[in-house]
Amino acid sequence: MEKLYYRKRYLDSLETTIKEIVLSNGKVGLRFEEDIVFPGGGGQAADIASIVDNSNKIFEILSVEEDEVNGNLHYVNEASDFNVGDRVNINIDWKHREDNMHQHSGQHVLSGCFYKLFGRNTTGLHIGKLISQLDIEGLFDDEMVSKIELYANEIIQQSIEIENYVSEDDNIVTRRKLPETDNGIRILKIGDLDINACCGIHVYNTSDLKLIKIVRYYKNKNGTRFEYLVGKRAVDFVLKRENVFGKILNLYSCNEDTIINALMNERLKRDELVLEKKYLENKLLPTISNELMDSGESTFGEITLITKVFSNDQKWLIEDLGRYITENNRAIVFIANEKENNTEILLQCSKAISDEYHIINMGQLWKESSHIVRAKGGGSRFLAQGICEKAEDILVFFANIKSSIKNEK
Ligand SMILES: [Zn+2]
Repeated sequence: MEKLYYRKRYLDSLETTIKEIVLSNGKVGLRFEEDIVFPGGGGQAADIASIVDNSNKIFEILSVEEDEVNGNLHYVNEASDFNVGDRVNINIDWKHREDNMHQHSGQHVLSGCFYKLFGRNTTGLHIGKLISQLDIEGLFDDEMVSKIELYANEIIQQSIEIENYVSEDDNIVTRRKLPETDNGIRILKIGDLDINACCGIHVYNTSDLKLIKIVRYYKNKNGTRFEYLVGKRAVDFVLKRENVFGKILNLYSCNEDTIINALMNERLKRDELVLEKKYLENKLLPTISNELMDSGESTFGEITLITKVFSNDQKWLIEDLGRYITENNRAIVFIANEKENNTEILLQCSKAISDEYHIINMGQLWKESSHIVRAKGGGSRFLAQGICEKAEDILVFFANIKSSIKNEK
């Protein structure tokens, strides 16, 4: 049987003859005169394939058992009335095969580039369904990675033939040490970029790969792991990014040359605003906090109960105020912030007070009284917040919570 998949790498359909039928565990194993179904190997996934019999019935190939001597066995599930000598059609899921060839050939191009530019060898490969990973010796920086990516794509543009053949030459020099074997070794050669042992199926020419994109890289053990895409995967990724990038440029009224500066300025402005907000908070929070503490109501354990309804104020101010007062005083705050469409509510005390008195539990108090204002939300023992629908009853709500604290005591 000839493994046509090595000689005719782009053959996705073949009419052939059944040479032998083997029955095993309720499955039917078929051997063909010629074979185009790649069984997987070298890190590359097996083909997805099916067989069409002479009455146009389709049988999925469930698994392939490799057999170097007699030819691979292709298992189909259904009891079928195949006979030795039948002519059948084998069909390969071409999208799946082509995608896997792209990722695998792309890996050899990348591995060759890493070796040629930096003398670094490949230590691992995983061809994934969405993204592939390539492990390389040593560490890299952005500049080195950019050089690799440019070089790999230059190799694509140079349209270099990718040769795949069995070599009996014992003196052949490859990128990595060859395994010891008496049989010939399948070699993959990409011009003078790379020569290495490989049993995968590859494209004929580097130009078939279209594009190689390194998506990201990071330190992995003592080396570096690269995530990469090749072919349609790479093109789709770049087009999607370009689309998003175009929107960002529009948003900032910038072009490729000015966007980085604009974003740096934006970041500086944001840092300044954060400082301004901090400054304002430091001035404002103690003043409001003191006013509210003065107007608060004393209760057991030297705790002050504070009730305050703000109108159309900033949410961050309300939250910062709740935190500031409870961090700096023995106080429980009930704050509302009335807005046009809804009213924000915040119930807060310090963790220390809620540890001291188990009846002081903001989440629990919220649950018990929230029906009064039809509030949505909730929280923990020391912080509960949310919004309410019936803002006109907010003071009743607060009074109810206050009295339940006092009564429990
Ligand atoms: Zn390979």
